[in-house]
Amino acid sequence: MHTHAIRRILLSAFWVFLLISCSSPIPTAILPAATSIPPTETESPTETPLPTEPPTETPLPPPALERPQYGIDLQLNYTTKVAAVNQTITYPNWTGETLTSLVLSVQPNLWNGGFSLKSLAVDELPIANYQLENLSQRLEIPLPRPLPPGGTVTLTMTYSLILPQMQAYSNPNEIRPQIYGYSERQLNLVDWYPFVVPYQPGEGWILHNPWFYGEHLVYDTADFDVTVTFTDGSNPQIASSGAEVASGSAGSRRFKLEAGRTFAMSVSTLYKVAQRQVGDVTVFAYYFAFYDAPGEAMLQTTVEALQVFTQKFGLYRHKTMTAVQGDFNDGMEYSAFYFISRDYFNLYDNTPKNYLVIIAAHETAHQWWFDAVADDQALEPWLDETLATYSERIYYENVHPDLVDWWWGYRYFEFQKAGFVDTPIYEGGGQRPYWDKTYFTGARFMEDLRQRVGDEIFFAFLKDYYNQFAGKRATAADFFRVFRENSAADISDLMAQYFQNTY
Ligand SMILES: [Zn+2]
Repeated sequence: MHTHAIRRILLSAFWVFLLISCSSPIPTAILPAATSIPPTETESPTETPLPTEPPTETPLPPPALERPQYGIDLQLNYTTKVAAVNQTITYPNWTGETLTSLVLSVQPNLWNGGFSLKSLAVDELPIANYQLENLSQRLEIPLPRPLPPGGTVTLTMTYSLILPQMQAYSNPNEIRPQIYGYSERQLNLVDWYPFVVPYQPGEGWILHNPWFYGEHLVYDTADFDVTVTFTDGSNPQIASSGAEVASGSAGSRRFKLEAGRTFAMSVSTLYKVAQRQVGDVTVFAYYFAFYDAPGEAMLQTTVEALQVFTQKFGLYRHKTMTAVQGDFNDGMEYSAFYFISRDYFNLYDNTPKNYLVIIAAHETAHQWWFDAVADDQALEPWLDETLATYSERIYYENVHPDLVDWWWGYRYFEFQKAGFVDTPIYEGGGQRPYWDKTYFTGARFMEDLRQRVGDEIFFAFLKDYYNQFAGKRATAADFFRVFRENSAADISDLMAQYFQNTY
């Protein structure tokens, strides 16, 4: 996420209701390591016994899935903003522990009446004793049988969504923007389906409380297969996290995303679409009429940033990348997808010296630092925001090298050195101070780190960090461990200056 405007946060009754201060410790371990299929018992015998009976049939377990599979059938009434959804989650247990329940995030339930669960089954057994409080994001589903390590369970559910209107306000600086829902010209489905949250062995399920600013969700990777049908006869454009594939049924459209964190869509009858090919990746830009110049700049910057970051960090993992003009005042990243604020479209001046280009580079960088290398966005938000912000500098030095000094002056001010980089969202001290710590002071730290070790080691470190953690979740401890694997430089002074914890 990024925005630059200073905002006062209003304590609406709704948010007050939601918010509880977070006391979860920062996890020190990383994701479950098990990614291989457990071996089946096939020891070769030392002697060949004479067969006396035909072998008894032992049914082989189904092949283990590498990651959860989401099959989602969305029936959307574009006119009334109501949806009916059939969803299947096939969840392999790679936690290393036996699970007796699953915990899912249900963000649409944070809106009053926004989510109604119609049916729920686990391995085809109907489940009635699930827990989902009113206006709670947490759905806990007891499993009829314990799920052992390496086992797989299938959830099927049907539910309806009533999409909220995106918050309308006279002063866009006053309150956190809402992305989920609809405006007069756009319908956004972000964090719109129930998903199983990560499980930290020894600690439990990771589902942090929402906060006034910053992101609170943490994701495993999953595969998505999403079919969209419009039930009201409308035929809007669909900007999506997934690559479109042939649909099995007339009147439906189907999208697939492999090893993504979260599947986002934005729907509108008003979009213009531009696209460009970068190697085997198709880049799409969706924007409203009369915004051709900024729409083209968003597309062009995304293409350039994809090329620069592929070269500097490592391979982009998806087949498509989609950039969308958001009808709200912020930018936000999802898997293979991001939004840029309408405000930056309005302020675009046909040069690279503006927020439209800066934020396009920033949100594209989140495909490396958020989607590929994930982190705990609530407790260690700097891991993706510091790197996405510093990636803006890397974009400019490669594409517009004469503008690096301008970028520092425009983006960073000394007075922003307001605290420690490793600040959880809950301790940010307000939106602007939160940005100053985790985005900008973080970028200054990265610059100092780079100057300490030189470009060669610095970029070897970033590539190594990316390659070690693409598809996984990293912690600050991981970040510094990989750094020390690449450099013996003494950075204790930088650590003391920028970080409150030791790693
Ligand atoms: Zn960001």
